[in-house]
Amino acid sequence: MDSKRDYYEVLGVARNAGKEEIKKAYRKLALQYHPDRNPNNKDAEAKFKEASEAAEVLLSEDKRSRYDQFGHPGVNGQTSGFGGFGNSGFSADGFGDLGDIFGDIFGDILGGGRRGGARRKSRARAGNDLQMNVRVKFEEAVFGCEKTVSISRQVQCETCDGTGGEKGSGPSTCDVCNGHGEVRRQQGFFTMSSTCPKCHGSGQVISNPCKKCHGEGRTRTKVNLSVKIPAGIDSGQRLKLTGEGDSGYYQGPSGDLYVLIEVEPHDFYERDGADINCVVPISFSQAALGATIEVPTLQGKVEVKIPAGTQAGKKMRLKNKGVTLIGGHGFGDQIISIHVETPTKLNPEQKELFKTLSKYENAINPMGQSFLERVRNLFQ
Ligand SMILES: [Zn+2]
Ligand SMILES: [Zn+2]
Repeated sequence: MDSKRDYYEVLGVARNAGKEEIKKAYRKLALQYHPDRNPNNKDAEAKFKEASEAAEVLLSEDKRSRYDQFGHPGVNGQTSGFGGFGNSGFSADGFGDLGDIFGDIFGDILGGGRRGGARRKSRARAGNDLQMNVRVKFEEAVFGCEKTVSISRQVQCETCDGTGGEKGSGPSTCDVCNGHGEVRRQQGFFTMSSTCPKCHGSGQVISNPCKKCHGEGRTRTKVNLSVKIPAGIDSGQRLKLTGEGDSGYYQGPSGDLYVLIEVEPHDFYERDGADINCVVPISFSQAALGATIEVPTLQGKVEVKIPAGTQAGKKMRLKNKGVTLIGGHGFGDQIISIHVETPTKLNPEQKELFKTLSKYENAINPMGQSFLERVRNLFQ
């Protein structure tokens, strides 16, 4: 007597349900009754097996049509042993769609449930990104330049073309995992799988390693590179040189090279982004009487008019005399700070002149008078 429940009933789907619907229904049940979530629960285990068996049949066109025609006897002995998977070891291998569903559903629970060749990782792996610091002169950063840098990096082995094997000897199947890329171990109902420690998941090993690179497929080599430094670059900015990092493992893609820029300080100029600051000294008399002075800029000398009565610390802006705006258009400005120099090393004659001048100071210095008054007020 057939005591089994109807497969459609088990999954709670209509007889004309499509594959997606069946998968969805099964997923729901499988997650609900998964033995890992229901430890030592015989009822859940039975439900899980029942749902798995139903899904296996209904997701196979062939088995489903036989089941529709003949019922359970039509597929008796055809199901792959989910019914007894506790003893035989759970395996989704060869289950087609069900295997995929198991991979999807239990991937997170089992740490990667999908089985077989499909999960094998390629031996090829990307190379590391590299970073190096490059110091450039102030003017080199302002105007841009080309620098030759020397870097030690992994390059593809020429002897074996990056395969890691001696000429003519390809990689062979890993004997630990038999090429599956993962090893399994029984744990309770399930077989846990983990990446094969010998081949790191590729399923292949180099049995006859290249003597030059010892099977690595790459060798460390010092190379000279020409790096184009764009005009306007500043300290702390990074240039990315795509594909100039370490070569990949076994013909995998190369990493990138990052060049971190450090700009050397300048005697006269100081960078402030795209603007340039500088200090320009003038004399007492130039400050008092006004003058025309020459100021160096990045684009050559320019004449700057200092108005009569200019105070120390006054800032003047020279438009577009700064640095190229990187990633933009135009230039920053040059900002000059006026420094009024106090004379030192006066001779007696010069001292007399300043003494004469000092008699008028209260009258001619704009801040002096009011300052003295304020101080007096403070001590009243
Ligand atoms: Zn080699
Ligand atoms: Zn292996």
